[in-house]
Amino acid sequence: MRGLRFGYIATTLLSQVDASVGGKNGVNFQGYKNIVGVFNQPEFVICDLSLLTTLPDREISCGFAEIVKHGAIADAEMFAYLEENAARAFSLDLSVIEKLVYESVRIKAVVVNRDELEKGERRKLNFGHTFGHAIEKTAGISHGEAVSVGMVIASAVSEANGPLKSVDTERLQRLLQDLSLPTRIEVNVDLVWDALQKDKKREGDTIHFVLLEQIGSAVVRRLTIEDVRDGMKYLKSPTDENPSQAHVSTGAKRSLQSKAPALFGVFGDPISHSLSPVMHNRAFVFSGYNGVYFPFRVNAIAKAISAMKTLNMRGASVTLPHKVRVMAHLDRMDAMAEKIGAVNTILNQDGILTGYNSDARGAVSALTERLSLKNQRVAIVGAGGAARAVGYGIVENKGNVMVVNRTAKSGEQLAADLCGDFSLLSEIQKIDCDVLINTTPVGMFPDVDATPVPGTFFNEHMTVMDIIYTPLQTRLLKEATAAGCDTINGLPMFVYQGAFQFELWTGMQAPVEVMREAVSEVLAFHET
Ligand code: NAP
Repeated sequence: MRGLRFGYIATTLLSQVDASVGGKNGVNFQGYKNIVGVFNQPEFVICDLSLLTTLPDREISCGFAEIVKHGAIADAEMFAYLEENAARAFSLDLSVIEKLVYESVRIKAVVVNRDELEKGERRKLNFGHTFGHAIEKTAGISHGEAVSVGMVIASAVSEANGPLKSVDTERLQRLLQDLSLPTRIEVNVDLVWDALQKDKKREGDTIHFVLLEQIGSAVVRRLTIEDVRDGMKYLKSPTDENPSQAHVSTGAKRSLQSKAPALFGVFGDPISHSLSPVMHNRAFVFSGYNGVYFPFRVNAIAKAISAMKTLNMRGASVTLPHKVRVMAHLDRMDAMAEKIGAVNTILNQDGILTGYNSDARGAVSALTERLSLKNQRVAIVGAGGAARAVGYGIVENKGNVMVVNRTAKSGEQLAADLCGDFSLLSEIQKIDCDVLINTTPVGMFPDVDATPVPGTFFNEHMTVMDIIYTPLQTRLLKEATAAGCDTINGLPMFVYQGAFQFELWTGMQAPVEVMREAVSEVLAFHET
């Protein structure tokens, strides 16, 4: 593989701040750390911060171990910034995490550029790693956790062999604890010692050891293996006979602190009937995403939007009667939402609120499960907000739209916007179409005996969709089925528009079947 061009896409915090920079990448092999790998620079490195939200808390903590290390050895300012912002960093606040990833990459790149072949300066990046690697190998904990413990031990060794003051060791230890990292661990000391002796950086009876001088500054010193062995005492448990080292053991237990969940909700009035909370909460739990979704009865949408920023809500759905008037209060608009002229989804990125419309995507996904829309003649019954969203989705997928509405004015306007024909609902028998979609509320609970289109209109060549989902089988769908049509109820559109929201908010793939099941269960409960 020599000479092969390659790049890295760093998907963990640890890889973004450490592994992807420096051109030295390896895998462990037969008990030896990083013994097989490359010593070449990649053509590119991509660090996409949105990927970090998909990581378990423990994995995020591990990445922070290397960020703390960079601050400790080279940048007192960055270390202090992390001390001040540890909670925001741990909850992946975008502005904080962006700065930390950027600064970490910068620090590592500067160090590596000065010493690509690891003759001097670069050794500083091994701060905490001499013990860290030995602990990782023997205690079976992750790299970041082992490095965290290793850094605390290395600080204690630095106090014993250099100018480091105990107050700096305590700062380091406190910061690691704030980031949910362990600072002390009970291990089999003999095994760790054995692993330390195998350290590839050992030269005879000495070892290059990174000592902290103070927070933000490190030196590499040759220590005797006995000096290093002295550090082993910090591996003993706090109940051991060495209480004088209590300052090292105060962080013995991994903090149980966990990230606060990301907050979501739906704004509307009325809202108690909304199925979005059950759908999204089930999806969060299933996907392991740390989020929670509430229904909010809102009559003043401007205040709800301002609260969204204050509470740092990650996302919101918007339903009747706010879909149009919410637009005036948002910072940005997605192109499709702009065209449709209504917003039902908001994404909050670092205080910037962007409006989307997921109905068009939901309708198109529901339809294209069954047929290709290209060149299909699609009659849309109704000319309200949902008709507009569905219409744009169909036009975008190269279908030909006809608007059929009881009122000429609104119907003609929508038909003109979609470059389609218009027909009055009272004259529907005159039209010919391949697909018919009802977007009016006619037939919705409790008026389940109503239908906007007479049963005589249907023939077996048609596909008929009703976007109403209470009830799932509207009179319109029952009569279309009786006429031999392929029918689609309102559930898939609702689930797919929710899936789009989920993916937009979390960056994760939506568990569509789980969402469908959650909504079906509630609907079945209501229908019995
Ligand atoms: P809307 O903006 O109020 O529009 C309703 C449309 O239906 C208007 O064009 C209106 O005609 C027409 N209409 C109302 N009553 C009628 C009647 N008795 N006879 C004939 N036409 C009538 O409402 P919307 O936001 O578009 O929502 C419509 C429906 O779609 C609701 O039932 C909603 O629950 C459902 N929906 C479902 C989903 C889903 O995911 N499945 C998503 C969004 C909406 P005029 O122009 O003459 O007033």
